Amino acid sequence: MKCALCLEDKKLRKSHIIPEFFYKPIYEEDPERYFGVSTDSSEGIDHRQQGIWGRLLCGDCEQHLSKWEDYASTLLYQRAQVQEISIGLRVVNVEYEKFKLFLLSLLWRAGATSRKEFSEVSLGPHEEKLRRMLIESEPGPPEKYGCMPVLCPKYKDLLQKMIISPDTVKVRAHHVVRFLLGGLFWNFFVSSHTPSIASDGIFLTEGGELTILAESEFTSDYIEQLYRRWKDSGNLDDLSDKFGANNAA
Ligand SMILES: [Zn+2]
Repeated sequence: MKCALCLEDKKLRKSHIIPEFFYKPIYEEDPERYFGVSTDSSEGIDHRQQGIWGRLLCGDCEQHLSKWEDYASTLLYQRAQVQEISIGLRVVNVEYEKFKLFLLSLLWRAGATSRKEFSEVSLGPHEEKLRRMLIESEPGPPEKYGCMPVLCPKYKDLLQKMIISPDTVKVRAHHVVRFLLGGLFWNFFVSSHTPSIASDGIFLTEGGELTILAESEFTSDYIEQLYRRWKDSGNLDDLSDKFGANNAA
């Protein structure tokens, strides 16, 4: 079987498409299940038992990606130095190369897997460009496949319990791939041309500053959309009881 990263014929591992550490806080709180809401409204709420994996990478490539994953896990869950700023939060002293490569690996895996949960992530020619950047450990400049994390304080408790299938939307002529992981929306600008917001220092800077916006125009629409879906699925009461989301609409 061919490894999706090195393209060599090797024994493939059970590769997690979303790193396991994003599920951990959810497992610890409620080991029975987490709430995964499909972006496909016909599927409704899915009470999954475990993370999503696929036969994607060989052992060496798993190792190659795991060093960035270990760094990201430690940064996000143990060592983040966070400052409050007017537009949200800023994490400082982030190692640019490691965290950027971690973000790129997340985006690439979602595009490279054939799992149906990731079917709305289609990277086209960018998949091969990302693969090369990962193989060469080349993080590129901040604006290249820049990621804009967004925290929605109003829904914080609820969002921390959720993992949603990523999808793709168009924002100001750019394709944006959105993930909800670890209570944050991670919005990747997948484009050959530079998004205008790149100049605002919104993407992780080479100086190690990661800005997390408190709100953004398109995630608030997205949350409303999700909220409607929960309502339609008839599971809203369950969610409201569990996470105190009754004031959320
Ligand atoms: Zn490989």
